[in-house]
Amino acid sequence: MAERFNIAADHLGLDNGLRDILRTPDREMTVAIPVKMDDGNMRVFTGYRVQHNFSRGPCKGGIRFAPDVNLDEVRALAAWMTWKCAVVDLPFGGGKGGVICDPSVLSQGELERITRRYTTGILDILGPDRDVPAPDVNTNEQTMAWLMDTYSMHVRRTTTAVVTGKPIVLGGSRGRAEATGRGVMITAREALKKIGMRPNQTTVVVQGSGNVGGIGAMLMQREGHKIVSISDQFSAIYNEKGLDMPDVLAYLKANRKLTGYTKAAHVSAAEQLELPCDVLVPAAVENQITSANAQRITAKVIIEGANGPTTAKADQILESKGVLVVPDILANAGGVTVSYFEWVQDRAGFFWTEEDVNTRLERIMVDAFHGVDAMASKYKTSLRIGAYIVAVGRVAAVYKLRGSYA
Ligand code: GLU
Repeated sequence: MAERFNIAADHLGLDNGLRDILRTPDREMTVAIPVKMDDGNMRVFTGYRVQHNFSRGPCKGGIRFAPDVNLDEVRALAAWMTWKCAVVDLPFGGGKGGVICDPSVLSQGELERITRRYTTGILDILGPDRDVPAPDVNTNEQTMAWLMDTYSMHVRRTTTAVVTGKPIVLGGSRGRAEATGRGVMITAREALKKIGMRPNQTTVVVQGSGNVGGIGAMLMQREGHKIVSISDQFSAIYNEKGLDMPDVLAYLKANRKLTGYTKAAHVSAAEQLELPCDVLVPAAVENQITSANAQRITAKVIIEGANGPTTAKADQILESKGVLVVPDILANAGGVTVSYFEWVQDRAGFFWTEEDVNTRLERIMVDAFHGVDAMASKYKTSLRIGAYIVAVGRVAAVYKLRGSYA
């Protein structure tokens, strides 16, 4: 990401002082999370919350639970959120949180106690006007409900706007669960228009089958795309005639993994990314398309559902092959956009219909896509650098006007 930031800053002619400000996280917090496990023993987990930049508004970004979470990763993801919120012009800065733990071996009770104690640890820097978390890898609406309740008990009033991605009955927004996948579908459609293809002429490979990949694939199939492959963290399935997405997702729901699905062939994770297709949607985790496999990618278009799935070296290879990459900070911004709608609805105490949510999301995503595309053409650069120029330019403009408080 540093490379992309620097290129955008060069195009914008930013001075070194401003570059330093924009690169440096505003605040970082590390907390110890002592938790009583089901077997009666105490264990101490570690959690982080990084607030990369709050010049445009409260920090916004998810919380992930994973064994390999570390401060460097959370820092990078927090900065991504700053640029993502700025690309779609939301009045938010970027933040990210994480807890080092393996949810697959934890009970619901243990997860709840971890979430509540982590929330208590970072409570002083949270709040609807300060920092508003959301779900990310291995966290979901239940996690957000516990976070909202813990915060509310401490401040002694129900504060729904402290977190987004909540269950609808607790002040969640209609359309939030599908929002990231919907944004992926919309940006895929706009990208294909740009190269003169229609959804019903395309085959699609999707890496990941969670909130982004699974829902994205389902919505893309409804738009007419043929989904030929999808994966989870254990296996990848492939059927060149097209998968039946409702059936795949029903299987996944019942079995919790794709392993054993019989209506398609099984391929390895590495093979999946290189399958013949028109559109590739990496919607899992970081660093999947690298200099080691970029040359063998067959897709004409890549829609980055995940954060950071493509390395800077891979970007160069893809660009020389003429692959159109819709960058993460644009392609997966649908989620945070509807999080913004959720925060607005909570603060107003007035809730919108799903149609309202989807219509507004559509407008924001389409405008953002074309704004980025225009910027990329103006500077004769990729959509990724175009997106960074839009985002960094917006945050830099705020600093120029606000000045530096001393
Ligand atoms: N975790 C999601 C992301 O990376 C959503 C963040 C949010 O809604 O605040 O964009």
